[in-house]
Amino acid sequence: MTKNSKRTIRKEIYVVAALFAIIFIVMIAYLARFVQVGSRDFIYNAYNSRFSVFADDVSRGAIYTADGHVIAKTTLDSDRNEQREYPDERLFCHAIGYVGKGMSGLEARYSFDLLKSHISLSDQINNNLTGQKSPGDSLYTTFDYETQKAAYEGLGMYDGAVIAIEPDTGKVIAMVSKPDYDPNTISIYWDDITDESKNNSALLNRAIAGAYPPGSTFKIVTTIAYLRENNGNDDFSYNCKGSIEVDDYKIHCSSNKSHGQEDLLKAFSNSCNSAYAYMGINLDRAGFVDTAEDLLFNTTLPGDLGNTKKSKFSIDEDTSESIIAQTAIGQGSTTVSPLHMCMIVSAIANDGNLMKPYMAEKLVSAEGDIVSENKPEAYGKLLSSEEVATLNEYMEAVVSDGTADSVDFGDLKVYGKTGTAEYTTDKNTTHSWFVGYATDDDGNKLAIAVIMEGAGYGSKYAAPLAAKVFNAYYFN
Ligand SMILES: [Zn+2]
Repeated sequence: MTKNSKRTIRKEIYVVAALFAIIFIVMIAYLARFVQVGSRDFIYNAYNSRFSVFADDVSRGAIYTADGHVIAKTTLDSDRNEQREYPDERLFCHAIGYVGKGMSGLEARYSFDLLKSHISLSDQINNNLTGQKSPGDSLYTTFDYETQKAAYEGLGMYDGAVIAIEPDTGKVIAMVSKPDYDPNTISIYWDDITDESKNNSALLNRAIAGAYPPGSTFKIVTTIAYLRENNGNDDFSYNCKGSIEVDDYKIHCSSNKSHGQEDLLKAFSNSCNSAYAYMGINLDRAGFVDTAEDLLFNTTLPGDLGNTKKSKFSIDEDTSESIIAQTAIGQGSTTVSPLHMCMIVSAIANDGNLMKPYMAEKLVSAEGDIVSENKPEAYGKLLSSEEVATLNEYMEAVVSDGTADSVDFGDLKVYGKTGTAEYTTDKNTTHSWFVGYATDDDGNKLAIAVIMEGAGYGSKYAAPLAAKVFNAYYFN
């Protein structure tokens, strides 16, 4: 081979190597762009609000119920601009949230993931080169469509909340709050929805962030405090005359009814205010506080549901006896969220073990591959098995022979506690509560908390609504 031809070959090798290097650099830059567009900071950049909802390369993924109903999706308007659509309008508004005026709910918390695509990289590059968007990953929630619908429709025109949780997993099956809003039109009606003079706070998710007087549902907590002070022994006796006077403050039983001679089971199932007020003033105060705090009062609730409200319980040595008496029956300054009451009855349904509540089940690519999945997670044991056995007996008596015995729960076995909570000095305005759980023959359980603001007796309003929700869950 001549010197010249050798030089020519070497030159050609250099040219090819340089070409490969250029191609390589271009590819790296191209891929880097994908990675950069996908970075959390880039998507959440406050100066880039369009990216926070719709990305240039990825079409925001859909959101589904656990049983496959699409409850949020991206569509194109007549000008072929992307828009977010909520086919069920108000039905899931507080759980799913919205995009348009900022973001809230699962839309906000999973925005980054919905704007990621896990279809193959070659398909993504191909879409990019042909000017098409790649489909974003979809979010599957834990909600059951028919159960949510029954809760929503059952609440009707009342303000309030319903939350239902599967006790052995912590999956949120239904979550409704009213007043509500239509996330499809939130941008149009924003000023109206957020008008504080109307004071309806439709954006507030009362199920997790409401602060309500617990009323008689709190007798569950008082009962546990009593059991703990007496080493699990439920010996108790009280002769109810329809009212009790503590420090010149008179506490009445419902409709001034005299319940007569009662043991603890009877006092609980009758929801006897006089017996519980008497029990309360004789309880060790520090022990009462310890029990409430063991049951997650004055604590940020565990789980993954967003901005939950801390429940409040405060008594001490300086608290007057009349306030202690009111506190024992769920009045006084105690406040709870429906979520918190639902978690307490969930723990009772699950042999004392509390599972952390969650509502995001899994992310799935447009090709059907699971990208990530949330598994049930235990928080810990809130109650001993002995306490659970006692409470089960009492909560069963509420339904079979107590304040909720007129409610038709169908073929389901139901354990519960009603509540009628005063929230103003006018005793005719009361919130209607029901907390409890149902089980079918196979042992599948569902825990629930229902509050209907200003509705009246728990047994007349909240408990029948719980029955509708249970029936939708088990039989639809
Ligand atoms: Zn009574």
